[in-house]
Amino acid sequence: MRFGFSILYVMLILALLICAFFAFKSKKAIGKSVGLLCLALIPPLAGNLIIISSGNEKISTVGAYIYYLGMDLTMAALMRFTHDYCLVDKKYNVLRFNTYLILTLDVIQLLANIHFLHAFALTPIDVDGFAYYILVPYVGQSIHRIVDYTVFLSVLIIFVVKLVTSPRITSEKYSVILSTMAFVGLWSTFYIFSGTPIDTSMVGYAIFGLMIFYFALYYRPVRLLDRMLASIASEMSESLFFFDDRGRCIWANKQGSQLLDVKDNNYEGVTDKLIRTFNDIGEDEESWKERKTIGRGKDAHYYVLERQTVNDVRNKTAGSFLSIRDVTQEEKALLLEKYNATHDSLTDLYTKEYLFQCIRKKLHDDPEGNYLIIYMDVSDFKIINDIYGNQFGDYVLKSIADFIMNIMPEDSVFGRMGGDKFGICIAEDEFDHVRTERDLANFVVSDGVNKHDVLVHMGIYEVAEPNLDPSIMFDRAHMALSVIKNDYQRHIAYYDDEMRNSVIWSQRLSSQLHSAIRNREVVPYLQPILDNSGKIVGGEALVRWIHPEYGFLPPNTFVPVFEKNGMIAELDKYMWRCACEILSKWKKEGKDLFLSINISPKDFYFMDIEQELRKIVSEFDIRPQELRVEITETVMMTDADNRLRVLNQLREDGFIVEMDDFGSGFSSLNLLKDMPVDVLKVDMVFLRQSKEDIKTRKILHNIMNMSNDLGIVSLTEGVETQDQYRMLNDMGCKLFQGFYFAKPMPLAEFEKYAYDNLLNN
Ligand code: C2E
Ligand code: MG
Ligand code: MG
Repeated sequence: MRFGFSILYVMLILALLICAFFAFKSKKAIGKSVGLLCLALIPPLAGNLIIISSGNEKISTVGAYIYYLGMDLTMAALMRFTHDYCLVDKKYNVLRFNTYLILTLDVIQLLANIHFLHAFALTPIDVDGFAYYILVPYVGQSIHRIVDYTVFLSVLIIFVVKLVTSPRITSEKYSVILSTMAFVGLWSTFYIFSGTPIDTSMVGYAIFGLMIFYFALYYRPVRLLDRMLASIASEMSESLFFFDDRGRCIWANKQGSQLLDVKDNNYEGVTDKLIRTFNDIGEDEESWKERKTIGRGKDAHYYVLERQTVNDVRNKTAGSFLSIRDVTQEEKALLLEKYNATHDSLTDLYTKEYLFQCIRKKLHDDPEGNYLIIYMDVSDFKIINDIYGNQFGDYVLKSIADFIMNIMPEDSVFGRMGGDKFGICIAEDEFDHVRTERDLANFVVSDGVNKHDVLVHMGIYEVAEPNLDPSIMFDRAHMALSVIKNDYQRHIAYYDDEMRNSVIWSQRLSSQLHSAIRNREVVPYLQPILDNSGKIVGGEALVRWIHPEYGFLPPNTFVPVFEKNGMIAELDKYMWRCACEILSKWKKEGKDLFLSINISPKDFYFMDIEQELRKIVSEFDIRPQELRVEITETVMMTDADNRLRVLNQLREDGFIVEMDDFGSGFSSLNLLKDMPVDVLKVDMVFLRQSKEDIKTRKILHNIMNMSNDLGIVSLTEGVETQDQYRMLNDMGCKLFQGFYFAKPMPLAEFEKYAYDNLLNN
């Protein structure tokens, strides 16, 4: 038996050594304490081993000391481990250090046995046929036992407290160590009272050390993990349902139970309830995910359902689980964000961008359908705002939005295009023209305080090319609207063939202007200007387009088109260069003639006219006086101050400024007062419209007198007869232009005309 125990102790010592080695190498914080405990357990085992195996008194005595002192060391290491494993907090350091102190005193007391023999002595007995020195206890040994038991019990208590106070899922690790410890304690006590010669409880201590090594460092608490997972599942914000392999619900977490009102863990009928609520829960799928909406409008709830099958080790379906995430809040926030991005905040109608998007989709989805695009606009909305204030203005807009919402069928789309403009797309057969016209004719807005007849018009484009961009369709509807803009009788106008053709015409000409200029299809025609003695003094450059397809085009067929899209600037710059080119040629030939060029009011938007003209006269090296600039009074309609500045600059530069078409506008006389002009170009054409010859005469007479008084040279254009010429001459008109003398003509003809004229004068 002694031999057997010796072998066992040697093996346990070796095992503890290995454990200590790995514990010190472990990266865990507790590793060092575990390592020290394993090492501390070796001396008591070694002491016992010596006693068992020696049979010699002296060696056995050394063994006994190693055993006793080793037990103190073990207790110290156990306290250190307990501290690190259970308490950690610094406030428990006192307990630890007091334990060390008591154990140190016990060590001193035990060592004093060498001198006093108060703790133990050894006496031989016969075990297995040869001497075995057993320990004879004295009072010192009792003290030692009391000390060690006290420490042991303290540790035991700490573990018990820890076990009781820690949450159930983490208490498992304490309970395992605690039960081992209690077992070892009992074993040790049994040894003390049994009087058996060999302390077999040392085997228990060693096993205890090995268990601590395992549990503190390597044990993965599967049950703990299971419980943790279960606890996480219970606490998760998602609703979870677990099903067995036959699809019956076996468990639901708190959220899931609440969602389906499951009581007392009774999962009967849960599967049916889920299917009833969500229609489909992906029962036949291995892995399934879907978004679901329950309810409508404000009460709608949104869920994300996800189902996963769980397979066992043999890859057979063991069951499945379904998670249901309530995404109502996120979804509603998202919907609100989308709503705000796509709806106008004042009227709640679609924004222009979103309306266009919807129209694009509608027409794309139904390319065969007949639709109307309606552009709606309030006349003089600015005045409503000015008179009644913005609040009533907003009220008017909201009333129009309400009107649209009320009269438009459900499948139409409409929105606010910005400001006082609205857009609608409606199926042609659903639009009630008569009723709408009547409604618009009686459109009165009243907020109880103010009441106003609001003039609202609709321009309608019948969608013929569904692939056109909505912006172009609305342009066409707008074009139709502009025809009746201030009409109180008609409120609805349709984009018709004439408008369509004019659009096509505009597009065609605009796309061709570049190359037409390059190919010299666009040319200046010159019309002579004569003085009162009939002598030619200059000419007006008038644009002509000799179109390869449409033939001879006069300016009124294309100038308005380019004035609308801004290309007039390109055309005019080209014409001005042509005029300068001709003047430069004449200069070289010694001809002293001026040329008038036309400036469109729209040119002011697209370039710095003064700078441009100065640049070209210097480029062609001609005097500015030879290039006369014709400007109509409409130039002054907008941005008058700036334009006045430009005209003054032009005159300062030496250009002669002529007021074209005088008599055609509204406020000619008034403007004349402010406009810095050198020449007044009176258009006979406008005066000729009047039937009363005497009145015309008087007007002309006065204009001539007035311009003479103001020091402005008078020029009459549109002179068609000799009588007119004579009359104007008598009135004191200085310059003349008109079919009576010559029509506008190409340069070569003009030069011949001028040559003949100068010969005769
Ligand atoms: P405008 O500047 O008033 O030019 C005079 C117009 O009256 C010319 O028409 C001319 O052919 C016409 N005319 C001349 N004498 C008579 C006459 O005795 N009887 C009648 N009935 N008409 C006469 P045109 O060439 O068709 O030009 C029309 C308008 O187009 C011009 O009116 C001018 O405003 C504009 N225009 C012409 N060329 C240009 C240009 O290069 N640039 C710009 N921006 N506008 C131009
Ligand atoms: Mg002119
Ligand atoms: Mg004119």
